[in-house]
Amino acid sequence: MSAEGHVVQFAPRSEVPQYIESQNPATGEVLGRVPVLDDGEIKAAVARAREAQARWKTLSVAERGKRLLGFRNALVERQKEVCEIISREQGKTFFEALSMEVLSVIDSVTYFANNAASILAPEPIPLHLMKHKVSYLHFTPLGVVGIIAPWNFPFAIPTTDAAMAWMAGNAVVLKPSEMTPLIALKTKEIWDSVAGLDPDLFQIVTGYGAAGAALIDSGVDKVVFTGSTKTGRLVAEACGRNLTPCTLELGGKAPAIVCDDADLERAAGALTWGAFANSGQVCASVERVFVSESVYEPLVEKIVAIAKSLRQGEGMKDDVDIGALTFPPGIPRIERLVADAVAKGATLRTGGKLKDGPGHFFEPTVLTNVTLDMEIMHTESFGPLMPIMKVKDEHEALRHANNSDMALLGYVFSKDHTRARGIAEKLEVGTCMINDVLATHAFPETPWHGLKKSGLGVTHSAAGLKAMCRMQHVSDSRVNLLTRELWWYPYSKSFTDQMSSMVRAGFKGGALTRLLFGG
Ligand code: NAD
Repeated sequence: MSAEGHVVQFAPRSEVPQYIESQNPATGEVLGRVPVLDDGEIKAAVARAREAQARWKTLSVAERGKRLLGFRNALVERQKEVCEIISREQGKTFFEALSMEVLSVIDSVTYFANNAASILAPEPIPLHLMKHKVSYLHFTPLGVVGIIAPWNFPFAIPTTDAAMAWMAGNAVVLKPSEMTPLIALKTKEIWDSVAGLDPDLFQIVTGYGAAGAALIDSGVDKVVFTGSTKTGRLVAEACGRNLTPCTLELGGKAPAIVCDDADLERAAGALTWGAFANSGQVCASVERVFVSESVYEPLVEKIVAIAKSLRQGEGMKDDVDIGALTFPPGIPRIERLVADAVAKGATLRTGGKLKDGPGHFFEPTVLTNVTLDMEIMHTESFGPLMPIMKVKDEHEALRHANNSDMALLGYVFSKDHTRARGIAEKLEVGTCMINDVLATHAFPETPWHGLKKSGLGVTHSAAGLKAMCRMQHVSDSRVNLLTRELWWYPYSKSFTDQMSSMVRAGFKGGALTRLLFGG
């Protein structure tokens, strides 16, 4: 790729391996290899997508939906195949591949296929002053959407984003993570098999970070990036150079606040699943737990008991709760966070180390007596670690929870919904779940977005679908009786005075203002 002007210089093409070998992180088995595409091949993929998009955008939204339901049906039919490749290439359990990825995509495709027409219908804007005018929003496709995906949900994240892009009338070029390219190619194979879907409307460009950078530079009309905050900054800079719109879904450090009136059984179950599902490799993972002192000991006992009972192993085997870590270079960070916490006085209640033997399995780890000077309370672990800190009450918990740059998800546990919502609304995160964790990524109606350094823009929901469109405002007049508007030429002293009097009469705050504007 042309690295000129880039903040990051990628290795010269001659030094980059020409193929990526995909391995099963649980066994080391080589699953296949995919090419590392160069700039020219990526540009050619975008050009093919652009031609297909010119045909796709002429279809009604309803017709696009009908065809996308064909894709949904094929996914339903071939769900086992998809779950298998997810589990084998990414390492999560087969059940998680089904429940957290495949089912969620099948449902989201169904939702957007069935609801995009009403969400994208022209949207009237009532005007409070210019009553002789009519305004509405009109949504048109962007063109080609470049999706750059991470490895932790290699199917659910890009395919849900792609479904929104397609329904909005766009083509998609997907750059999967170098850790999980085969899952993307399987998705494409299924897409290509569906009658009525143009294969060129969905392109996969495989490669390392340089391929992502080349995709951004290839002239795509929008970039949807999901990955680390560090890479997200580079993506934002690159998009900024071309003024390409981008949505960034970045890292998290989700806090959980457990009040003294929480249902401890439910809280323990939710927190352990929230910290250890997908081996803790979830942007929304429970990464910091703040527990009110009066329920601290009983809750910790329950959490430790559940953590100790979890069965770890190859995701394709039956009766496994936790699969493998996908990304070996992330292991030293996980180990460092545990060692730092223990060195500073945390108690290791269970877990704490990488298991012996083939594959990358880090034990589900619970640390108590955690304090704020420990790095584990600030750096995203992206591993199966649950640090638990005792606090006086939810006020102290909120202060600590909000003292973070990461603000994707947050969680509150209390039986009192009024109290829980009061805390939730003060938590500085894009989504706060009450008495539950993680799940809203699979609710297509609800937005998914990070605040602070956890992201820019929004995906999922009506807002996410509209973000896959150009939003055009059309302004018309109700009647054609006026030959001119009041503010057109010619200007005159007398009309300036009249306007000044009108401003005074209309906006000065008396009965007329209330009548016109309500206050
Ligand atoms: P990453 O940032 O290392 O890589 C993400 C993608 O970006 C990969 O496809 C990679 O090849 C590509 N890339 C790397 N350098 C690039 C560049 N300069 N230009 C363009 N593309 C480039 O992230 P990861 O390790 O794959 O994923 C883990 C991170 O993603 C965690 O921080 C996690 O919290 C975050 N994440 C966030 C969400 C969310 O919805 N907010 C969801 C999943 C994961």
